[in-house]
Amino acid sequence: MNEKELLLNLLDKPSVTPDDAGCFDVIESYLSEFGFQTEIVTFGAVKNLWAVHGNGQPLTVFAGHVDVVPPGDLSKWTTPPFAPTERGGYLYARGAADMKAGVATMCLAATNFVTQYPDYQGSIAIMLTADEEGPAHDGIKQLMPYLVERGVNMDYVIFGEPSSDKVLGDTIKNGRRGSMHVHLTILGQQGHVAYPDLAANPIHALGPVITRLADEIWCQGNEYFPATSKQIWELSGGAGASNIIPGEATIRFNFRFSNQLSAETIIERVHTLVAETLQTLATNTGKRYTYDLYHELAGEPFLTREGDLTQAMQAACQSVLGQSPKLSTGGGTSDARFVAPFGPQVVEFGPVNATIHQVDECVKIDDLPRLTQVYQRVLMTLYGKN
Ligand SMILES: [Zn+2]
Repeated sequence: MNEKELLLNLLDKPSVTPDDAGCFDVIESYLSEFGFQTEIVTFGAVKNLWAVHGNGQPLTVFAGHVDVVPPGDLSKWTTPPFAPTERGGYLYARGAADMKAGVATMCLAATNFVTQYPDYQGSIAIMLTADEEGPAHDGIKQLMPYLVERGVNMDYVIFGEPSSDKVLGDTIKNGRRGSMHVHLTILGQQGHVAYPDLAANPIHALGPVITRLADEIWCQGNEYFPATSKQIWELSGGAGASNIIPGEATIRFNFRFSNQLSAETIIERVHTLVAETLQTLATNTGKRYTYDLYHELAGEPFLTREGDLTQAMQAACQSVLGQSPKLSTGGGTSDARFVAPFGPQVVEFGPVNATIHQVDECVKIDDLPRLTQVYQRVLMTLYGKN
């Protein structure tokens, strides 16, 4: 089987998150033919696949997910999302780019390598989940500590996520910004709009609070990360009547933050800024406000510094694709955030991401064997075979 045949066998499975829809059966039977020990690890209702070949260190892990986002409005698709179709050199299906192409080519690279170098020292594994596109609670987040507890010690982890921007090999992700959601409610004193002296209007207090938060420079960024950004995405208040001063008003905002900050340091600063602003208001207007604040951390930032893995990946892109990829920490979160805290070098590298999560998602067919070769070349470098 080549990577395109394996990919077609995955793309016709409607593995809408968190259902693997038979993808793991396909991958298990493929890998076991090459001597991989495969295991399905279930958390809640979610299946995860761990497959390993060889023994000991170094251990290189190809990682990712077989679940996909829902196809959305089927009438908008040129051809059905789970009936993979070739047109003009591209393969169209939900999950083609995010990330079944990565899964298929990583599997091929691993089996090609162990066939070609049966005497290699160390081990190679495939780690996949069906819970990446949804809540991501029962996937890599739980599988990592489970494996580490069992003594699995990963040296290098490559996520075959669609990292490329314009052409295959132009971008490697070597980290991600942190992401955190914050909910802030200002509590005032409800009253009649005609009797403002008896009330404290929390919407009026939100103005200076928003200005203070918006003016704050959270960090300047560094050579790997852009400056930390904060975006308020919701503002709500009102008691539903034009003659009532409401008792509370809420804003919700999201931080995308660099490795110079942590969730804890950001939250401390938010508390300080809000408390100071409300204190100033109390001094200037006599109106007293309190607030409630809570946060949800989606992931702390992480960074794999330039080293064995980034160098092997860059060299492989150069020799196979003629590309000099840039290292980037841009984009949204991925499961790599659950792996990096355990210490291995982690990168994300895979196909062009232009159509991910869209109608008519596709991957360039010619890129498939080239991607396999890149992964294979990386293994050759990491195991001293070039
Ligand atoms: Zn993905």
